[in-house]
Amino acid sequence: MATASHLTCLCGSIKEAGTLLTSQTLPVENDICHCNTCRYTTGSLGAWYVSLTGSPSEESLSNAIAYKTSEKYTRFFCKKCGCNAFLRSDRDGSWAACSGVVEMEQTEGMTGRLSVQKNISRVLSHIYVGDGKDGGIAPFLTKLGDRDVPCYNTMPGEDGAEVLKKRELQQLRETLLHQPASETRDRGEAIEASCHCGSCQLHIAPPPYEVWSNGWYVPKGDHNKYYARFCGCRSCRLTLGFTLQPWTYIPPSQIYTVNDEPIVFGPKARETTQIEKLKHYQSSEFVLRSFCIVCGATMYYQSFERPYIIDVSVGVLRSRFGNIMAGEWLEWDRGIVSKRNECVDEELVEAWLSRPTA
Ligand SMILES: [Zn+2]
Ligand SMILES: [Zn+2]
Ligand SMILES: [Zn+2]
Ligand SMILES: [Zn+2]
Repeated sequence: MATASHLTCLCGSIKEAGTLLTSQTLPVENDICHCNTCRYTTGSLGAWYVSLTGSPSEESLSNAIAYKTSEKYTRFFCKKCGCNAFLRSDRDGSWAACSGVVEMEQTEGMTGRLSVQKNISRVLSHIYVGDGKDGGIAPFLTKLGDRDVPCYNTMPGEDGAEVLKKRELQQLRETLLHQPASETRDRGEAIEASCHCGSCQLHIAPPPYEVWSNGWYVPKGDHNKYYARFCGCRSCRLTLGFTLQPWTYIPPSQIYTVNDEPIVFGPKARETTQIEKLKHYQSSEFVLRSFCIVCGATMYYQSFERPYIIDVSVGVLRSRFGNIMAGEWLEWDRGIVSKRNECVDEELVEAWLSRPTA
């Protein structure tokens, strides 16, 4: 059996006891929201929450920045490390935490045997899948454990809510990641990236790869695309607020401001202000994680030890086709999730990595 021991962001400025959760027993049942707002405010491909018994402490909230996204919701993220942490419903005053900030501990079950349980969440459905033309990652997560997990275009109970049919999901799975870049000239001259509030924007020029280019970050198939995969590590989880950080790997020479200035990377990025609202958090001696200080979106990650590649959050990319997975620009690796051993939503990882045999 696993229980939630506490909630925390990476820097520890936001910290709560596990007793703040409505249920400390894991996994917690919830739904993944794929809506534009959840993606653009976080950098994640979706958002899934755990409900709280009440408000987080004064101390946690004093270390958080509130960002109101609609009449209905206010979102809170850590002002130091950028971790997305809480969501408050402004209709009924209820609180939820981003599921990635939950830290779990294994406890002995009834049998006395320590059974390893590696899921914070037990996802029951996908909602607002219709916000992306490709349905985002939802079509790949329709079988979790032994459950069939429905995909709703909006939300059950809303006018016009529909469940996507098996045939539609199959078609999305077959096409969305496999669009040849050469046939998609309409994809634009550059990839645009923007957080929800628009304060942090990037232009990403097309890949500079030649036929002979190689390296772990060069796509195996199409050199007109960038390589992408998920990271399940604890540091990514506690700065994103969700268990799977979607990264695409871009050479720094290709990343520009909206005024076409090359972005400054490396140690001097700490003292350089090019994008006023972009804040850097140094999570270790060689790592800077950069996020929007207004809306909380995780924008990119850089390691001074491998300065030749910058990890950009896929959740903030703005595909011209409205594709959440940006298949016209990105080649996704479904053979690996970085630091899988640290991931605490193993069911999701398993579904993403499993390929249909037929
Ligand atoms: Zn923090
Ligand atoms: Zn949402
Ligand atoms: Zn922003
Ligand atoms: Zn990571």
